[in-house]
Amino acid sequence: MPGLETGTLHGKLGIHAGNTGTLAFTDLRVPVANRVGEEGEGFLVAMSAIDQGRYTVAAGAVGLAQACLDASVKYAHERETFGQEIGRHQLVAQMLAKMESGIQAGRLLVWKAGWLKNHGARTTRETSLAKWFATEHAVQCALDAIQVHGANGYSNEFPVERYLRNSKAAVIYEGTSQLHQLIQADYLMGYRADRPIRCEPLPAEGFDRLPPGSHR
Ligand SMILES: Cc1cc2nc3c(=O)[nH]c(=O)nc-3n(C[C@H](O)[C@H](O)[C@H](O)COP(=O)(O)OP(=O)(O)OC[C@H]3O[C@@H](n4cnc5c(N)ncnc54)[C@H](O)[C@@H]3O)c2cc1C
Repeated sequence: MPGLETGTLHGKLGIHAGNTGTLAFTDLRVPVANRVGEEGEGFLVAMSAIDQGRYTVAAGAVGLAQACLDASVKYAHERETFGQEIGRHQLVAQMLAKMESGIQAGRLLVWKAGWLKNHGARTTRETSLAKWFATEHAVQCALDAIQVHGANGYSNEFPVERYLRNSKAAVIYEGTSQLHQLIQADYLMGYRADRPIRCEPLPAEGFDRLPPGSHR
């Protein structure tokens, strides 16, 4: 398409399995038939799409945190110091327990947003909270997983160094953690509210729409 240039970013810290690209538009004319939504609605359409993207990022972060915990529990059974499994040392046990608490909390936030989506509710606020919390926790879990693994965790012989590199990306894309904190505070303060949109999300098959305001 004339005026469209695409590129691939190289040298990323993680997410090597995914292609992260660039789009450059120079006097690009998009046919009306290719336009999504009505004229002037582009930003709203993009933001509604990001409510879905952020949800998958949140769910993925819970999975990544779980992988950190699974690897750490396994290693904490295998590795012995001072005559016992390192999982018996209280400061190692504390890292495992903290991982678990945030994983359970993050999963509930994701499930809440998912439940609301199924009922056709707008979930910008809930999805943002789940994404912020779960991605930050995944980074902390990855850091602690490396700590549990000691020097082995710092090498690519074990998966946890990859978990850390991948976890860091998700606190940047789909809205940085700073952006999500601003969103949450703005909702709390009443500086931000969901404006009416032309097409409200549809409930999933077999689910009813919730009465307005009933879930908060
Ligand atoms: C692996 C990867 C994949 C990506 N994939 C996509 C993709 O598929 N599609 C896409 O569109 N983008 C994608 N991105 C881009 C990503 O969405 C942006 O990098 C992100 O939104 C941050 O924008 P920025 O890099 O310009 O940072 P900046 O906006 O320059 O921000 C830099 C720092 O300042 C902070 N900051 C900025 N403004 C404020 C403020 N007002 N208050 C407080 N703090 C602030 C930010 O939180 C951040 O810490 C991807 C990025 C990565 C790393």
